[in-house]
Amino acid sequence: MYCVSIACGSHSRMIEEYRQLMADDVPLVELRLDFLRREPDLPRLLAEKNSQVIVTCRKPEDGGLWREPEEKRLKVLRQAIIDGVEYVDLEADTAKLIPRHGKTRRIISYHNLTETPEDLQTIWDRLAQCDPDIIKIAVMPKRIRDVFRVFDLQKANAGKIPTIAISMGETGFMTRVLAPKFGAPFTYSTFSSKRVIAPGLPTYKSLRDVYRYDSIDEDTEVFGVVGDPIGHSLSPLIHNKSFVVAEMNRIYLPFLVHPEDLGDFLDLAPSVNVRGLSVTIPHKVAVVGKLTRCDPAVEEIGACNTVILDNYDRFGYNTDYAAALLSIEVAMGGKVGEISPVKGCSALVLGAGGAGKALAYGLQTRGARVTVTDSDSDRAIEVARQLGCNEVDWEMRHGYKCSILANCTPVGMHPNVDETPFEKSALKEGMVVFDAVYNPENTLLIKNARAKGCIPVTGIEMFVGQACLQFRLFTGKPGSATLMRQILRNAISAVHYH
Ligand code: NAP
Repeated sequence: MYCVSIACGSHSRMIEEYRQLMADDVPLVELRLDFLRREPDLPRLLAEKNSQVIVTCRKPEDGGLWREPEEKRLKVLRQAIIDGVEYVDLEADTAKLIPRHGKTRRIISYHNLTETPEDLQTIWDRLAQCDPDIIKIAVMPKRIRDVFRVFDLQKANAGKIPTIAISMGETGFMTRVLAPKFGAPFTYSTFSSKRVIAPGLPTYKSLRDVYRYDSIDEDTEVFGVVGDPIGHSLSPLIHNKSFVVAEMNRIYLPFLVHPEDLGDFLDLAPSVNVRGLSVTIPHKVAVVGKLTRCDPAVEEIGACNTVILDNYDRFGYNTDYAAALLSIEVAMGGKVGEISPVKGCSALVLGAGGAGKALAYGLQTRGARVTVTDSDSDRAIEVARQLGCNEVDWEMRHGYKCSILANCTPVGMHPNVDETPFEKSALKEGMVVFDAVYNPENTLLIKNARAKGCIPVTGIEMFVGQACLQFRLFTGKPGSATLMRQILRNAISAVHYH
């Protein structure tokens, strides 16, 4: 079960949001009375009550907004109990002043918005002395290992007093979504992403629709994407939906992991049943040194975007290169089992970063004559040396004759949609023009390519291709490219619409 917290400045707004939650059959709602600008009028708020309710009225030192005298706050909480709400949230010091009464259950809570104290179990033991029905501990992580200490606390107290252990912020997001896997009675979410109630709170719609919170149980296998930043990633949408369609008890999460935490994350992830990872910026290169085994392409490219975890064994793959290559081969009419249509073609790769190096490697292994170019010429020279291909000065790129042109720079990416890394006048009819940029799908380069009679290949095809290959590595089954393409297009157009 998930709880939706509503925290508004006015009663009327709070009632309006509550109505919407009732229309959406939300079973448990937390009313954050400390957010109200006027004295809380609980009977008015509860006039249309049709769900279980938690009443919370928090002091600033516990992360709340209550500014009135303490005696008034205690009165509000006592009144909530007299009114018979299902739960009240009380901090340990408050709990001692408010005895149990009637059927109202007591959530005894501890919040620390600056750190994750070392003695979490001592804190839990102290809260357990306050006559709780539920213990809630919400703390802020500084390092990724703090997040796993919160999981450890949740696990260590399973079967004792029901516990909700939360690591706050984007780094701790996984503790909120995986709560039912480790026996938490419920988790918290927010009504709207525009309202910041507590750092890292998911919206109830994403919890329900993207992460299918109510279907997570102790057997759920965990997958995810590790990156920094990670909030923008569309991979959770694609993989979670694909797991649903394949009827698999699996969940895919965004893991915000800072570079200095990557090793700890990989060490600790198996303890919460993480089985597979997509790897994105800035970890694709650093992760290679932390693998126990890898695909030869990973060693050649020096970058890895997929890791399969088998307890403490880590197997690395690179589905980026295979997907980019395949999308070009398909556009050129290539067929499985036949010689690749890129063989013998001259290919110019713009950008010698992760994607550029991966595609240059892929084209080269299929027999294309590859030349790389980058605004940073040292980088292009280094990649050319490593792969044994050619390099051309960035300023000379338009004069270079090629039949495959591949953009692997971010030029043209949203919001800079009026930019292109290659002049329209230099595009030739019949040329294959690939763009790794997928947001927008129709970049200026792709539009120009169409207008000049070239064969366009969009970054969506690469994105969908690498996700399909990852899905196969994660599950042993093929993912649906059609489904993934549709989800991706919808998500991108939603971003542009808002
Ligand atoms: P990267 O490692 O940062 O490499 C990008 C390269 O392009 C760098 O060498 C960069 O040089 C260069 N560059 C940046 N801005 C430039 C400009 N204005 N003019 C010329 N060169 C420029 O990034 P990446 O991971 O390879 O990603 C490149 C693009 O591919 C991104 O847009 C990414 O979203 C996309 N991508 C798409 C997929 C997919 O599935 N469709 C997969 C991976 C990547 P500096 O470092 O000096 O700026």
